[in-house]
Amino acid sequence: MVTHSRGRRRAPQPAPPQDDNLAAASLLQDMALLQPNERSRFGYKRAAKAIVGLTASIRDVVTSGSIRDVPFVGPASARIVQEYVDTGASPTVDTAVARSSHASRVQAARTMRGGFLSEHAMRQALAAPAADSIVSPDAFRGDFQMHSTWSDGGESLETMIDACLGLGHSCLGITDHSYGLPIARGMSMDAVARQHEEIDALNRAFAGRFRVFKGIEANILADGSLDLQPDERRRFEFVVASPHSLLRRAEDQTARMLAAVQSTGVAILGHPRGRIFNTRAGVQADWQREFAAAAERGVAVEIDGNWHRQDLDYRLAAQALGEGCLFALDSDAHSIGELRFTQYSIAHARLAGIPADRVINCWSDDRLSEWMAARHEPPPSRPARNGTVARGRRPVR
Ligand SMILES: [Zn+2]
Repeated sequence: MVTHSRGRRRAPQPAPPQDDNLAAASLLQDMALLQPNERSRFGYKRAAKAIVGLTASIRDVVTSGSIRDVPFVGPASARIVQEYVDTGASPTVDTAVARSSHASRVQAARTMRGGFLSEHAMRQALAAPAADSIVSPDAFRGDFQMHSTWSDGGESLETMIDACLGLGHSCLGITDHSYGLPIARGMSMDAVARQHEEIDALNRAFAGRFRVFKGIEANILADGSLDLQPDERRRFEFVVASPHSLLRRAEDQTARMLAAVQSTGVAILGHPRGRIFNTRAGVQADWQREFAAAAERGVAVEIDGNWHRQDLDYRLAAQALGEGCLFALDSDAHSIGELRFTQYSIAHARLAGIPADRVINCWSDDRLSEWMAARHEPPPSRPARNGTVARGRRPVR
């Protein structure tokens, strides 16, 4: 349950973008959930995926008579999309849901599509005019969550650097998985030592052109502690702490998530909810308290741009901005092709109205180093006021 304590202000919510492509694709996802066999399920899902990946508006595609030219959109899917464009709804889907014994499945899945952006809506958000202070692709210097062959990524670190250089970036943070996540081929501390030698050599080779920051993606355990001990965390320039378990629980996990951002050494809270499009709601927590705690500790909250995650999305990001948070806009790429997911992160940040100055990806190498080093310091002890943490302070830089 998300709760709001008395006295807290609610940040103004940004208006949701008109995303017809996502709405049309959602109708096809509804149909997929109602299909009796894998083949027809797959057909609707594939059509839905093609539509969220379109660069053009589905409205324009239908109006120009080219809906059947979209790969994987067959006659049944085309009819539903046509109905949506004509009326804003689909009687075909409504009837199928009403007649199905799986209607509750559809209702549940619909709640797991909130705040996502289609490719078209993402591009619109990037192109929409905004104040110069708002984060933009031009202000973006580097991506701070990605994986290489040191854990479960598909490419070497050097290949990732080359690809980031090709995108016009001047730094990156490598965040292979820690040993606590063996399913993602998490690195032993011995492997970490070898990876750091490679990074040092690459930083020498790319000196003046590109800088690699030594990071790790640590795993937030059930009690909110991390799978890396404090002395192990110190071996990295920065730690991303992310939830990878207990992501389908209905009960509140605020205590777990608060403990994670309050752990010494944590610089970024990675994909804070752990949600997945259409299938997983992720962690339930009092996000306003979590964001206040992150702001207090100078921990950046991530807008993970992986299409299936989009976590935080612009709605929660606006709330985090209201609490004074810093942000990390990351691809969470496991291959060079996925590096473009930062476009989604930047699009959500623009919708939330986040200034570039609050986005670590826009900072200079020196400012990044200073901020990362400060995260390893224990928090200054302050007298508690009635046992509560003082609020309204801006993050320490
Ligand atoms: Zn992760």
